[in-house]
Amino acid sequence: MKLLFLGSPGVGKGTYAQVLTDVLNIPHISTGDLLRAETKKGTSLGNELAKIMEKGELVGDDLMLKLIEQRITESDCKKGFILDGFPRNLVQANHLKNLVDITHVLNFKANDEVIIQRLSGRITCKKCSKIFNTASIIPKEEGICDKCGGELFQRKDDQPESIQNRLDVYREKTKPLIDHYTNDGLLVEIVINKNITEIREKLITQIKAYLEGKIDVIEEIK
Ligand code: AMP
Repeated sequence: MKLLFLGSPGVGKGTYAQVLTDVLNIPHISTGDLLRAETKKGTSLGNELAKIMEKGELVGDDLMLKLIEQRITESDCKKGFILDGFPRNLVQANHLKNLVDITHVLNFKANDEVIIQRLSGRITCKKCSKIFNTASIIPKEEGICDKCGGELFQRKDDQPESIQNRLDVYREKTKPLIDHYTNDGLLVEIVINKNITEIREKLITQIKAYLEGKIDVIEEIK
């Protein structure tokens, strides 16, 4: 099962991928997490990447294509994977097609207010990348990850100056992928405006039913 998660920044796809990776027992590959790991190393490449990411711009395709090719040919990906954050444009999508046959594309949607609230309230674990939210997915202890005890931080690109640019970049470069994968007959739309804590079990049931071919469309999850 080779899944691709699409959707605007802040739509919740990283959170949903973190739930489904365990349920489906396939790795969650977030290109944002892979890049953030590189920036932490403090190498000159890492510093270059950090500058691009803080502005909410896209990292160059050549580097992204190498990164993804390397990751999806690792042994844990043989049984499948969830791609989150890749591809971000048509060049990347066309390259991916030469590498692997994606089986399903899940396009997550939410209202604009929900998206802004998720982006501005998001806090992420420095150690394991688990996502929390100051308004909706509140950690048991302030500033500390429930899962691994790591420190929680706000991504620089989740601050207002970058958020707008990321949404613009998404509309211009990534949104055309919706038509691309619809034409390939791979895409299903999933509308969720509720917090994960309220819809977790429904999300799992609906997505499993879809992936098993028991349903063809997914009604708004609420
Ligand atoms: P994300 O965690 O998916 O929101 O990604 C954070 C940032 O990493 C993005 O705003 C981009 O700067 C960069 N990034 C992640 N994935 C890609 C990609 N496939 N292509 C180019 N840049 C990416």
